[in-house]
Amino acid sequence: MSFKQFNLHPQIEVGIQSLGYKMPTPIQLQSIPAILKGRDVMGLAQTGTGKTAAFVLPIMQRLLMSGPRKKTRALIVAPTRELAEQIHESIYELGRATKLKSIAVYGGVNKNPQIQKLRSGVEIIVSCPGRLVDLLEQRAADLSGIEVLVLDEADRMFDMGFLPDIRKITKQLPEKRQTLLFSATMPSDIRGLAREILHDPVTLRIGEDAPAATVSHALYPVEQHLKTTLLIKLLQQTNTDSVLVFTRTKHRTTKVARQMKTAGFAVTSLQGNLSQNQRQTALSGFRNGKYRIMIATDIAARGIDVNSISHVVNYDMPNTIEDYTHRIGRTGRADKTGNAFSFVTPQERDMAGAIEHILGEQIEQRTLQDFDYTLPAPTGNEGFRRSMSSFTRRKPPEQFRSATPQKEPASSRMVSRASGRRSR
Ligand code: AMP
Repeated sequence: MSFKQFNLHPQIEVGIQSLGYKMPTPIQLQSIPAILKGRDVMGLAQTGTGKTAAFVLPIMQRLLMSGPRKKTRALIVAPTRELAEQIHESIYELGRATKLKSIAVYGGVNKNPQIQKLRSGVEIIVSCPGRLVDLLEQRAADLSGIEVLVLDEADRMFDMGFLPDIRKITKQLPEKRQTLLFSATMPSDIRGLAREILHDPVTLRIGEDAPAATVSHALYPVEQHLKTTLLIKLLQQTNTDSVLVFTRTKHRTTKVARQMKTAGFAVTSLQGNLSQNQRQTALSGFRNGKYRIMIATDIAARGIDVNSISHVVNYDMPNTIEDYTHRIGRTGRADKTGNAFSFVTPQERDMAGAIEHILGEQIEQRTLQDFDYTLPAPTGNEGFRRSMSSFTRRKPPEQFRSATPQKEPASSRMVSRASGRRSR
């Protein structure tokens, strides 16, 4: 894998070689072809991943291959003057043989040299939002010919309160343009902005530590012994396609599957004790819609590739953030939106906090109306029956219903044994 595969202009190749880049980084591999095709991109990537060259190289290619020179055609907006300078320097280094010109525009320094350089004709502006708005108000910058807009470190710009300035800037840009948005985290405000300004974007994610931006997250605080009844009630109230439910242990996978079946849901399960045949049957039943719900452990569910999963439910919180990302990576695939619902006991709250940290935002907490959160932990078989009774009287929604609802087996003692204890 070399940069040759991108068929970049020979003058750009010179820059790549002079910087000693031998192989494209993962984000370059993913984003350069998409940007060259003219697609909008939403890139979840941190600084240090090679993200600057990932957008600078295809932008330079566009500027070299067609269109006028000495006209401003690309705008890169960055939160700080250090980042703006860094991007400007990368353009200089990578474009040293191209004669393309860029300018770094930021506040805290005299405007006049910036205005003069803009007048002399630059193809690329790298700017912090505030100073650019200032120059636009003075009519010292003309953005009417912009073909590509990059918002770099969008989450940081949002944190720094630049969103109104970004809106002012985007209003001055031609509607028809390519837009690339990069962010290390995807809080909901950034997702909102992305929906506003990106057109049919390709979403790229570098590293597994940040969950996909197409998934929305919700926390459901609940005591351990009420999780199954909450799951039943939640599924009765929610419009879903296929649902994948994660439990922490094999034992609990089997138990929850049995409880859901008893309540009349068409459910299957996947855990490490199944034979290859049983696993295949469970998977194909889930894939073809015979079962709309699958209960699984993390390990058993690795690699499940079912497109119609609209909801992932973390019946138990995962042990690591990586597991969370893997779990919810099963939904929100291929431009679809997905939902991740997490049931959180007070003991699981720390993991929820760690996930919020990675997401860069607090996750919405939800409670179900008409759900009795105060039901005590059952002491015998009776407990689960009692807490379920109000729900099982109601049928599950049509899509979840199994052909032949099953009676709760007499051997379902394990249902109530789980109360108050972690069963592994
Ligand atoms: P960035 O994430 O854009 O700030 O880049 C981080 C560092 O990686 C910078 O010093 C770049 O010059 C360097 N870099 C970017 N792409 C490559 C590559 N393909 N090979 C080697 N170094 C690279």
